[in-house]
Amino acid sequence: MPGIGTTGAARIGAGHAIIIGVGALGCAVAELLARAGVGTLTLLDRDVVDLTNLQRQCLFSEADAADRVPKALAASRRLAAINSSIVVRPFVADFSARNWADFLPAPDQTAPLLLDGTDNFETRYLLNDIAVTRGCAYFYAGVIMCRAMTAAFTPGGPCLRCIFPDPPAPGTQPTCDTAGVLGPAVQAAAALQAAAALRLLVGESPEPFLIDTDVWTGEQRRIRLSRQTGCPCCDMRHFEFLSRAADDTTTLCGAGSLQHWPHDARTIDLPLIAQRLRPMAEVTVSPFMLRARLRDTHGPMEMSLFADGRALFRGITEPADARTLYARYVGC
Ligand SMILES: [Zn+2]
Repeated sequence: MPGIGTTGAARIGAGHAIIIGVGALGCAVAELLARAGVGTLTLLDRDVVDLTNLQRQCLFSEADAADRVPKALAASRRLAAINSSIVVRPFVADFSARNWADFLPAPDQTAPLLLDGTDNFETRYLLNDIAVTRGCAYFYAGVIMCRAMTAAFTPGGPCLRCIFPDPPAPGTQPTCDTAGVLGPAVQAAAALQAAAALRLLVGESPEPFLIDTDVWTGEQRRIRLSRQTGCPCCDMRHFEFLSRAADDTTTLCGAGSLQHWPHDARTIDLPLIAQRLRPMAEVTVSPFMLRARLRDTHGPMEMSLFADGRALFRGITEPADARTLYARYVGC
């Protein structure tokens, strides 16, 4: 391939990509980068594999869904089987303003690439702030129905907030729960995102375009982006998302689960909680998580609890119920 060659391949091998969110997009882009030989892949995801994911999340199997394996772990196992010569670092965690610095190399090290595999604007604006403060390239991607949107934001060029100064108001945008996602659109977004990442790794500069592709009709629009004077992030240097406190309870896209992660959560002793829950629930515990099938006044539901104090509830829809159940079964 002209533009890569042996020198380019060596540069790709020295690269580090952090993939935030290993759902549909994250799986697809991680596989492309692993097969291309990107030397270090850091994978971050807060959720576990569900049967409804398999239509578009290409690194997972029915067995992963049956065992409710955390997505970051299931993906890292599959990637290690694909390419044993790269380093894959999985983290079962919710990437947020509270902990983002834990997953990045120190500021004096080579800046990693930030690959967007998220499904929410909160995290995208946080990634944009991190990219601008740390001098990282940020590869935005979003998929809804049959449309794939991508943009490569590289240091010194326009940033996400030059185009969209503020996140859309909650509920104004379709989500993968309300509109659905077509598998091929995911692959299109991941392909453009991975190609831009590889171009940057070999020393080229991907042009600042917002690329909007409709895989159903084959139509594509390219909008040239430019830096905006007065951009709150790259021009005014206000990094408000780096310190913005997220809500304790959030709804996860895709499989109807609620996450509850109290701000004052402590590290959880999973075997101890498992022991406490066994008389009232069917409990399994691994080094990474505890899973309990419970039946109480809320009806049958499932709780996945992680060592960082985060819990995912399936079978309930009200944030208030998530708080009540957390207090009841985990403690405050
Ligand atoms: Zn900007």
